[in-house]
Amino acid sequence: MTALADILRARIAATGPISLADYMAECLLHPQHGYYTTRPPFGAEGDFTTAPEISQMFGELLGLCLAQHWLDLGRPAPFTLAELGPGRGTLMADVLRATRGVPGFHAAAQVVLVEASPRLRGVQAATLAPHAPLWLDDTADLPDRPLFLLANEFFDALPVHQYQRDARGWCERLVGLRDGALCFGLSEPQSRPDLTAAFPGDPPGTVVETCPEAQRHMAHIARRLRDHGGLALILDYGGWQSKGDTLQALRHHAFADPLAEPGLADLTAHVDFAALAAGADGLAHRYTAQGRLLRALGIEARATRLAQGLTGAALEAHLAATRRLTDPAEMGELFKALAVLPATAPPPPGFD
Ligand code: SAH
Repeated sequence: MTALADILRARIAATGPISLADYMAECLLHPQHGYYTTRPPFGAEGDFTTAPEISQMFGELLGLCLAQHWLDLGRPAPFTLAELGPGRGTLMADVLRATRGVPGFHAAAQVVLVEASPRLRGVQAATLAPHAPLWLDDTADLPDRPLFLLANEFFDALPVHQYQRDARGWCERLVGLRDGALCFGLSEPQSRPDLTAAFPGDPPGTVVETCPEAQRHMAHIARRLRDHGGLALILDYGGWQSKGDTLQALRHHAFADPLAEPGLADLTAHVDFAALAAGADGLAHRYTAQGRLLRALGIEARATRLAQGLTGAALEAHLAATRRLTDPAEMGELFKALAVLPATAPPPPGFD
C-alpha cells in the first residue's frame, strides 16, 4: 500500500466514491505523493520513454517547423515560445539548438514553460538556464502575444472522466472501496444530453471519455492564437474521437493495474483530437500521423546526415530510434500531430 492509497481510502470512506478524473489528478499531481511530483518518470530507469528522449531529431524538426512558420508570418516580435509539460526539457533544448541560426528568432522569443511539478522544473532549469525561461502554473497565464507552442505527451496526462451508456442514461465510472481496497464502480445513470449529442447512436455498454482539463487548456491557447496569431503543435497518442476505455497505467515500461499503487505508476488516457480541434473555436486545424509529419519535415535527410558520424552500436541505435519515431508499427501511426492556427495563415510546414 502506498501512502497515497491510504489518503485516498480515508477520503473515500469519509465522503464517498470519487470520479476517475479526481483519482488521476491525485495520482499524478498530489503535492507530496503524486507521480510527477516524486518520480523520475523518463528513460531506462523510469516508466516510459518519449519521442524527444528517443532522438534529438524530433525536437530539431519541430523547432524548424515552428521557426519556418514564424518566418512565413513575417517574424512577429516579441512572441511566446511555449511548451506544455516539458518533462526533462529535452524537446525545448533541441528546438532552441536547431533554431539558433534563424535570424531574429531567439531574440524575439520568450521561452515559457507550463509545468506543474516543482521537481521537473528543477530538471528543466538545469537544461534551459541560458534561455532564461519563465515558468507558469497554467495556460491561463500565457502572455498576450503571438504564440508558438509545443505539447508532446502533455494532453495524455490530463485527468479524464469515463461514462458508460446504459438503457437509462450515462453512468460515471467511479473509484470506491470494496473490503477496504480501491475498486472501480459506476454511478447511478444520469441524463447527459451533452454526451448523447457527442456520441450519438452508441449501444448500451459503450464507454466514452471526456477531458474537461484539455478543453480548458485548449480554450486558453485558442484565445492567444485568435487575438495575436501563431501556431500550436500538439503531439500525442490517441485518435480522431478516441472511443472506449483507454486508461492505462505504466510502471517500469510495463502495463500495470491503475488502482494497485496510486502515485507509483504513470496514468494516461488516449487524446481525443476531434475534441481538441472542436475546442479551438474559430481557428483552423490540420491533423496527421507523427510518422508522416516527421517524414514531411525531412527526417530521412537529417537521419542520413547524423548517421555519417556514427559507427557500430551508436549507428544501430540511431537507426532504431529513427524507425521508432516514424514506423507505423512503432510510434509513427499511434502518435498523431495536430496543428492549430488562424484560418487566414498559410499551412505550417509538414502539414500541407
Ligand atoms: N513533454 C515531455 C514530458 C511528457 S510527461 C516529453 O515529451 O518528454 C508529462 C509532462 O507534463 C511532465 O512534465 C508533467 O510534470 C507535466 N504535467 C502533467 N500534468 C500537468 C498539468 N496539469 N499542468 C502542468 N504540467 C503538467
